[in-house]
Amino acid sequence: MNTDDILFKLNELNKISQKLDTQEPERLEMLKNVSDYSNQFIEGLDTAKAFTEKKASSLEITGQKTPLPHLLDLYQKEVAETGINAASGKHLGYIPGGGVFTAALADYIAAVTNPYASVYYASPGAATIENEVVNWLKSVFSFPDSSIGCLSSGGSISTLIAFNAARDKHKVKNEFITKNVVYLSEQVHHSTQKALRIIGLEDVIIRYVPLDANHKIKTDSLEELIEEDVSAGLQPFLVVATAGTTDTGAVDPLNEIAEIAKKYTMWFHVDAAYGGFFIMTSKKELFDGIEEADSIIIDPHKGLFLPYGVGAVLVKDSDAVLHSNYYSANYMQDGANEEMLKSPANISPELTKHFRGLRVWLPLQVHGIEPFKACLEEKLLLVNYFRNKLTELGFSLGPEPDLSVSYFWYPFEFDTDKKNRQLMQEIHADGSVFLSSSIINERFVIRIAILAFRTKKETVDEAIEMIKSCLKKVIQND
Ligand SMILES: *Cc1c(COP(=O)(O)O)cnc(C)c1O
Repeated sequence: MNTDDILFKLNELNKISQKLDTQEPERLEMLKNVSDYSNQFIEGLDTAKAFTEKKASSLEITGQKTPLPHLLDLYQKEVAETGINAASGKHLGYIPGGGVFTAALADYIAAVTNPYASVYYASPGAATIENEVVNWLKSVFSFPDSSIGCLSSGGSISTLIAFNAARDKHKVKNEFITKNVVYLSEQVHHSTQKALRIIGLEDVIIRYVPLDANHKIKTDSLEELIEEDVSAGLQPFLVVATAGTTDTGAVDPLNEIAEIAKKYTMWFHVDAAYGGFFIMTSKKELFDGIEEADSIIIDPHKGLFLPYGVGAVLVKDSDAVLHSNYYSANYMQDGANEEMLKSPANISPELTKHFRGLRVWLPLQVHGIEPFKACLEEKLLLVNYFRNKLTELGFSLGPEPDLSVSYFWYPFEFDTDKKNRQLMQEIHADGSVFLSSSIINERFVIRIAILAFRTKKETVDEAIEMIKSCLKKVIQND
C-alpha cells in the first residue's frame, strides 16, 4: 500500500477507533451513571435479599452498541439479583467478606492509570505498594524481614505458590514423590489437595490426622503417624495446619505442630485464609506459633473485607520461591538489573497482572487499621450473640467456636438430618439471610459464618426471626 492510501485508510479507521478513548463529557456522564448505580445498590442492601434462587439470562455479547444505563439495569437484574448477594451483611454462608467501598475506588484508579505492578523497573511505585502490603502482612504475622511474599488472586493460588516452594526446597520429585508424606487435618480446605495435584504431587502419600472434639488436629496422633512413616522408610515432607477452618473456624494448635515440624524437618504450612486477620483481635493467643511457619496464606478478600480477588502468601525461604518463579528472558533485559525481589513477578507465576496491591493499600491508608480491628472483634461477639439466641430457641450447637464460624442443628425427635435439610431448604427459599450447610461428624448441620463487615446485631436478629419462621414451617409440614 502506498503512503497516501495508508493515510486515507488510517483516517477512516480513526473515525471509528477513537471512540474507545472516551472523552470528558461522556466520561463524566458515565461516572455519574455508575456512581448513581452503586449508591442505589449500597443504599438498597438493607432491604435486598441475601440469596435469590434465580438463573441469569440474556447476558450474551451482541457486538452492537448498548447504552450504559441499560447495561447497568441488566447488571442489577441478572447479576446483582441472582444467587448470593456477597456485598450484603446478610451473607452468613461459606466465608463472606463484603467488599469495602474504598477498595472499589482503588480498583478504578488502578484500572485508569494501569501501572505494570509486577516488575519494579516498569512501575517502581506500584511494585513498592505491592511490597509494602507484603511488609505490613509480615509485621502482622511476625514474619522476619528476610521472608518474602506476594499478593495473589486468592487462597487457592497462594497455596500453589507456598507448596511449590515446599516441593522445591525438599526436592520432592520423580521417584521420591511416592515416598513423601503430607499430613492434613480432616477439616483441611479442599484447595489444599487440589494444589498438591496441580503441582504434580498427586502421588504423595496423604495422612489425615484425627481431630479432637473441637475439630483441631490431635498432635499426639500426628506424631504417631509420623513415627510410623519414618519407621517404614518414608519421608515426612509437609504438614498443613489451619488457623480458622472453613467448616468450624477451628484454629489448630500451631505451636505444637511447629515443634513437630521442626523435629522431623518438615515444611510447616498454615492456611490462615479465613482466620488470619483475627490475630489482630482479643483471640491473638490462638495464633501463637504462626510465626514459626515456613509459609502462610491469608485472604484479604475475607478478613479485611475487600472485594473478591486478593489473597496473600508469605514464605520464609526466598530461595525456594525464586527457584520456582524467577526467570529471565531476553525481552526483559532492560529490567534485569533491578533487584529481583522487588518485582512481584519473581515470586508468583503471574507476570502481567492486576495491580491488586492498591485495593489493600488504599483502604488501610484511608481508614487506618482501627475500624478493621473493631469489625473483626465485633464478628466474634456477634457469633456468641447468635449462638445464645439459638440456644434459647432449643437448637443444638457445635462446640464453642475459636473465631466467627459455628454450626447448629435442630434436635428433631425423628429423621433429624432429613428435617434439618428441609430447614436449610426453607431458609434458602426465604433468602432474606443466607446460610450454608455442611456435614460434620456425619451429621447434617447448618453453618453460620459471620465475617461480612456489614453484618451487625440487627442482621443477626433478622436471621433469628427467619430461622424461627422456617422452623415453624418444617414442623407444620411434618
Ligand atoms: C477460602 C479458603 C481457601 C481458598 O481460598 P480462595 O480465596 O477461595 O481461593 C482456603 N482455605 C481456607 C481455610 C479458606 O477459608
